[in-house]
Amino acid sequence: MQKSREPSRAIAAVEPHGAEQRRNVSRPLGELVREKLDAGTLPHDAPLKLWAGRGEDHRCTLCDEPILRSHIEYEPQYDGRPPIRLHVGCYGFWEGERRRRGYPPSY
Ligand SMILES: [Zn+2]
Repeated sequence: MQKSREPSRAIAAVEPHGAEQRRNVSRPLGELVREKLDAGTLPHDAPLKLWAGRGEDHRCTLCDEPILRSHIEYEPQYDGRPPIRLHVGCYGFWEGERRRRGYPPSY
């Protein structure tokens, strides 16, 4: 039996707790996310699509730590941008800061 891949359902099934390990980051993520939004490393605009899936050891665009295979990876999709990959927690910081700045939610 084949499961169809529906981003909105996948996201609803993902709860932002438990999966994150404590990371050894030297700077608070709230500060990093503001910096990366200001620098354009992270976009303000809502993505065209948002995928959620298993980590593949890629580095997180926000915290630069690898997203382990035991973790969930969020991948907001844009045209003409390098791939963005985020931990669940990092995605939350990005989403929260975007909304605080008055941009539309990504889902
Ligand atoms: Zn991260």
